[in-house]
Amino acid sequence: MRRLLPCLCTLLLLASCAQPAKPEEAQFFAMDTVMAVTAYGSRAADCVTAVEQQVNHLDALWSRTRADSEISQINLHAGDATAADLSPETARLLQNAADAYEHSGGAFNPLMAPIMDAWGFTKDAYRVPSREELTSLLPLTVDLPVLGYDSPDFTHATASLPHSGQELDLGGIAKGQAAAMLMDVFRGHDITSALLALGGNITAVGTKPDGSPWTVAVKDPRNTDEYLCVFPLTDRTCATSGGYERFFTAAEAGVEGDATLYHHIIDPQTGYPAESGLASVTVVSDDPLLTDIYSTACYVMGAEAALDRWSRSDGDFAEFDLILVTDENHVYVTEGLEQNFDFRGEQNGYTYEIIRR
Ligand code: AMP
Ligand code: MG
Repeated sequence: MRRLLPCLCTLLLLASCAQPAKPEEAQFFAMDTVMAVTAYGSRAADCVTAVEQQVNHLDALWSRTRADSEISQINLHAGDATAADLSPETARLLQNAADAYEHSGGAFNPLMAPIMDAWGFTKDAYRVPSREELTSLLPLTVDLPVLGYDSPDFTHATASLPHSGQELDLGGIAKGQAAAMLMDVFRGHDITSALLALGGNITAVGTKPDGSPWTVAVKDPRNTDEYLCVFPLTDRTCATSGGYERFFTAAEAGVEGDATLYHHIIDPQTGYPAESGLASVTVVSDDPLLTDIYSTACYVMGAEAALDRWSRSDGDFAEFDLILVTDENHVYVTEGLEQNFDFRGEQNGYTYEIIRR
């Protein structure tokens, strides 16, 4: 028996060398963006299928461009005192969006739809609305939906918007909530090695099959074919928000000869695209929901307020890390990301510093 054991171990080793782990992969389009999942493990094929089904299911509930989604039902009945029936998933999303509004001091606002429409983002029919038009829409973004439910797990939930003309747009939180829910799908399929990309929200489940960390890259917001930095990610989510992801020029919207850029993250105080001095914000945390909310909110708040949040994050706020790229080509990286952080922005004129508490 003693002699057999080393032989058995060698055999097992050989077997594992002979069969390098093969990933199961899927790419699909949902929530208005490209989604990709890579998973390893004996149940990876089923897991990847379940991930795609779950995302499509949530997209059908939350899309504001599909008339039959639960979000569209709430929007349709804004101001007419009819409450829409909600699945627990949608009720939870709305509760989380309301919490995000509160915790971000209103920088994250789930009611930006009328303003997104005014800029033409919803139908890719871009225009530059007048200041008066934007000012007249701002009151629609103030009163959050009224949520009703029977129990903390959101059974028999309903929601209504108090004023006609109000509309929900959950584009800044839906992918984060979806990723958070998908963690149960990975766990349920015993997956300990996977990478999930819901648009710019990347979640690393465990490590690569060989035990080394997954690596992620942040794009250079001014040269999006190039990387600004690369760093390891294990059991955490990384999400980037930036004006460069969706924008148009005034000239494209019919203002001849005007190269002014207008992007898709709106400052709820003004109705104009946020001008906080940041070109992109990357948030890294172990909570995919928080990551998505804070990347949008910190982009609106600007570097000073974002770093202030970060410095208090093991007190009043959950723990997270930041990579802030300023309009002046400076990059702030919080200390939790320092280890094995590979900065590649020098050749494009960027400088960077590690921020410590
Ligand atoms: P993200 O890419 O996660 O930063 O989300 C950007 C999307 O969130 C936009 O395309 C809008 O759908 C929506 N949005 C725009 N401005 C805000 C805001 N201030 N708060 C919350 N969501 C917003
Ligand atoms: Mg977001």
